[in-house]
Amino acid sequence: MKSIEVKVGNLTIGGGHPIVVQTMCNTHTSDIEASVAQCIRMYEAGAEMIRLTVPAMKDVEALAEIRKRLRDNGIDTPLVADVHFSSEIAIAAAEVVEKVRINPGNFHRDHEKACEQFAKLVSVCKSRGTAVRIGLNHGSLGERITTLYGNTPLGMKEAAMEWINLCLENDFRNVVVSLKASNTIVMVEAYRLLAAAMEEKGTVFPLHLGVTEAGNGDSGRIKSAAGISALLSEGIGDTVRVSLTEDPVNEIPVARYLADRYGGKLHSSMGKVEISDRKAAAAYFAPSRERLILDLACDFGKMLLDRKIDDIEIKGSYRNESGEEVTIDGSREAEYLADELMQATRRRFYKPEYIACPGCGRTMYDLEKTFNEVKRRTSHLKGMVIAVMGCIVNGPGEMADADWGYVGEGSRKVTIYKKKTPVLKHVPEDEAIDRLLELIESDINRL
Ligand code: SF4
Repeated sequence: MKSIEVKVGNLTIGGGHPIVVQTMCNTHTSDIEASVAQCIRMYEAGAEMIRLTVPAMKDVEALAEIRKRLRDNGIDTPLVADVHFSSEIAIAAAEVVEKVRINPGNFHRDHEKACEQFAKLVSVCKSRGTAVRIGLNHGSLGERITTLYGNTPLGMKEAAMEWINLCLENDFRNVVVSLKASNTIVMVEAYRLLAAAMEEKGTVFPLHLGVTEAGNGDSGRIKSAAGISALLSEGIGDTVRVSLTEDPVNEIPVARYLADRYGGKLHSSMGKVEISDRKAAAAYFAPSRERLILDLACDFGKMLLDRKIDDIEIKGSYRNESGEEVTIDGSREAEYLADELMQATRRRFYKPEYIACPGCGRTMYDLEKTFNEVKRRTSHLKGMVIAVMGCIVNGPGEMADADWGYVGEGSRKVTIYKKKTPVLKHVPEDEAIDRLLELIESDINRL
């Protein structure tokens, strides 16, 4: 499916151009030194586009300064402003960077007003040559859409098409669209529906793919690769961000792998596969462990998501960091990797399901450390969905179908959510995991 070309500074997204690899800073944008340093590390690691959060009007100035310092350093990587809720900030940011990411439904509760504000932003972007990403997420669709369509892939597609139609009416085509979800089935379905709807409409805008709040480590990589590869293998998707709750530089090799593999530059390290009784048995000879897990997720993620197979068994080997061959035939590691893929594709849950945002300039605590501690202390709660979110502004909306949520408020305080309801507010950070565990235990005992 050929999308139209969208210009983002010196970069072209869509129109058959190579898949663009992007990432996002987790620094405070107002901390110009730290943000510039992180952007430089990202650039050196191969990021082709870098997003920064812009929570307040004063951050627009910081963003302009970050851009200037990068350009002075000879780095012309296009920058993207991530703006929530305020059309004024989005308009100001559109004057200083190459692209603005918005969720236009969040501009105003009243849909008519949100449309007016969006039209103003479009007119500034048209005159400045700034691109826009309409970035809708499962979990933050707004009441109007969820009342009509539910919090569903269909609702996500319908919401996106409303804004796409508005762009077409305004003759504005410098637009990229994303429909992220942490649930890989929802994410794949939403993008497929949207791609088909745009094709029917006659204008296919480039798609930015991502599994949001994917977490970290093997799970974050497998979940991201399974969801994103299912779409790229169908020709859906023009730019990729792999969201990991880690140093954002770690996202880039994973995104690069996906871009290269579906750009035809890489092939799987799988040697042999047999499928019988809807179970795949695959042998790998991978050059590294990371490569093994990414190959595995790409080779079988889509088949599992689409229910073409029901189980997977792996064997073979990979090379460890010292270059030694590690054989995994019949090992606990082979079983664990198969379990991870089964859970990433939501076919079998062998542990709790975690949702964790990657963190950004809105995060006021050590998200990665806290997330790892929450994982360590809740590992026995198989099947439960637990979210760890960086901020109270977007966290509650974006943790979608979590049973429990640990959401940073700022000022070293935390709110604990049960489903969508805040059940304990302003909990000091150093007590918050204990309180979360107590609430979960007492809830289990009540059942
Ligand atoms: S939920 Fe996480 S990534 Fe999203 S805005 Fe808040 S801190 Fe940033």
